[in-house]
Amino acid sequence: MLAIALAVTTGAIVLGAQPPAAEVTYRFTYATPGDDMVTIEMEWSEPLRDAAPLVMPRAIPMGYGEQHYDAFVSNVEAFAGATASAAPAREEGPRWRLAAGTTRVRYRVNLREMEREVRAASDASRVRDGYLGALGYSVFAFVDGFEARPTLLRVEGPSGWPVFCTLSPRWPVTPDPLDGRAPNFYALADAQIVLGPRAQLRRLAEAPAPLYLAAYAEGEVDLDRLGTLAATAYQRVIDYFGTVPFRHYTVHQELLTPISPRHEYGMSMEHLDSSTYYLAASSGLTARSTADDDARVLYNFAHHIAHAWVPKRAYGIGYFPFQWELAPVLDSIWFAEGFGQYAAIVAVGAGMPDPAAYRQRMLERRFRANVTSAPDFLKRLTLVDLSRVASTRYAEDFRTGRLVFSRGGLMAAALDERIQAETKGAKSLRDALRFLVVWSERERRAFRNEELPWLIEEATGVDTRAIMDEWMAPVPVGK
Ligand SMILES: [Zn+2]
Repeated sequence: MLAIALAVTTGAIVLGAQPPAAEVTYRFTYATPGDDMVTIEMEWSEPLRDAAPLVMPRAIPMGYGEQHYDAFVSNVEAFAGATASAAPAREEGPRWRLAAGTTRVRYRVNLREMEREVRAASDASRVRDGYLGALGYSVFAFVDGFEARPTLLRVEGPSGWPVFCTLSPRWPVTPDPLDGRAPNFYALADAQIVLGPRAQLRRLAEAPAPLYLAAYAEGEVDLDRLGTLAATAYQRVIDYFGTVPFRHYTVHQELLTPISPRHEYGMSMEHLDSSTYYLAASSGLTARSTADDDARVLYNFAHHIAHAWVPKRAYGIGYFPFQWELAPVLDSIWFAEGFGQYAAIVAVGAGMPDPAAYRQRMLERRFRANVTSAPDFLKRLTLVDLSRVASTRYAEDFRTGRLVFSRGGLMAAALDERIQAETKGAKSLRDALRFLVVWSERERRAFRNEELPWLIEEATGVDTRAIMDEWMAPVPVGK
């Protein structure tokens, strides 16, 4: 029950005690197979009182970097009721100026060009033969000031094309237009749309909330094997956190023929109710994959599913509300990435014959080896300074991303050990993370780094300040 309540009240975080703001309706239309473009329409009932900017996202939630999605937008039109206004003028940044009185906007987004220009496959939407896969933040704009408004989305594909959206998965999947609701722009932008006869859609689990697999493969892949691993990871992470903060969850995987040697495949991304895995066509799980491959894929699923709790629903400052035009400078990536991954390690390990051995092996492989091999100039940064540096180049210069999550992961492990030792095994870091998820939902805000030891103590009765201070400091020479 708690789970459903959490999902439904996400929108109230911003709305607070204010009367509910008017809804914004979005329409996503992909009209003709083979077309490069999608058309987006946005509409709201109350005409704009003053001129306001229309904004395309550049920053990606948890992307720790920027993509200039506005570069692929064209044909921006604004309307006041049924009347077309002058074409909105382009402004500095990812903005267009909407005139007072505007109630509707229409624009097009070129997905073919986006895939060509954005070299990180996990940041791009794409159209390919018989298939479309779209990331919400790469296609949906917002009117500045409307971010907290609830949104209604209608998705329409070419005649006969199955329509799937992570906001409101429909089962069985049909080609009819699909409607979905999001409590705010963040939830809309964090959703994905999957269309086309070459999409392979499966329902992997019914409970505790339906789990879907949306796959598109240009290479060999064993979807049964992949689906089993996704369902296992899903269940273990749910068991770890003890709550289900979404009404459904989707694993979206694309196996793609690289479009140039400079394009990068293999990064995954977490979202509120889904996670996305955009890989090179040759890296699918097949009948010839090894037990090690299975273990790697299982952990990767668990890692990104765990982010639905940490930090999507328990987060430091800057994660939510989110700043869309410039990647925010964040002080707590070590928590989001390190603690999230540590939770995934313990969650996955719980299903292993020897959980302690798995944990040790993963701490060594995922975290300790990265700290040892990191360049000294990054080790000399405090964890907050490293987090700030990684905020805008986490993946682009992965030395920063890898070190910030590794130091955070080792801190989580040290905290877990201390909590278990002092409570003689009665409590663990898991209790602190569960507490934090409930606290975040109740307080409807981000925690400040200084509050974390206090919150952990409240949850477990253990004072962990000294350990946190130690791990926030630069890495000692020689470590
Ligand atoms: Zn992560």
